[in-house]
Amino acid sequence: MSNQSNAFNQLSLPKSLLDNLESMQYSQMTPIQALTLPAILSGKDVVAKAKTGSGKTAAFGLGILSKLNVDSYATQALVICPTRELAEQVANELRRLARLINNIKILTLCGGQPIIHQVNSLAHGAHIVVGTPGRLLDHIQRQTVNFDALQFLVLDEADRMLDMGFEDDMMHIIKHIPSQKQTLLFSATYPDSIEKMSTRIQTQPEFITVDEVN
Ligand code: ADP
Ligand code: MG
Repeated sequence: MSNQSNAFNQLSLPKSLLDNLESMQYSQMTPIQALTLPAILSGKDVVAKAKTGSGKTAAFGLGILSKLNVDSYATQALVICPTRELAEQVANELRRLARLINNIKILTLCGGQPIIHQVNSLAHGAHIVVGTPGRLLDHIQRQTVNFDALQFLVLDEADRMLDMGFEDDMMHIIKHIPSQKQTLLFSATYPDSIEKMSTRIQTQPEFITVDEVN
């Protein structure tokens, strides 16, 4: 182990985020955060592989929250997750990270919840949408979501989404969002299918892996 400091304040994060990280007692970046955050902040597409529990949510979450324009209620980031439970977890972590950002709205769009409530919430605007593929596609087809101003697309647990057969749904969603955005692919494993997906949807991505240390 190196003694190198990975303090969050090495990065040019807004003060509202740094202050909040301190109150959350996130004193150091985890390895995957230290490697991916500078690339994300510099605007690159990233493929990140690290095991479960390594802090991947804050890695993409802090990148998104740093660049968000809260004054615009257009949806600026879309995070796609394989299950409702994971989407709720990600949304909750994003809300915790964004606690000191006033008026920020983070909405989950998952199946198993009345669509009409989601349509009403969307009508009020959401800076960040976190959802599962089926329900997101449903909203796209109903034209109740608008991703024209999207700056970030995150595929979280991308390997699991491919395992669960969501590839066609994901490609369909991606067809409906602008190509001039940053695409971040987070995964616990890196099978060939992820590499193929990356080739199809990303531009000169940076590949970042944190291997398990035994
Ligand atoms: P992953 O997506 O890689 O499985 P999570 O993003 O769910 O991991 O994070 C795992 C846990 O680590 C969460 O409880 C989260 O609050 C915590 N965590 C993330 N980053 C840090 C950090 N820099 N310092 C302390 N705890 C952290
Ligand atoms: Mg995760």
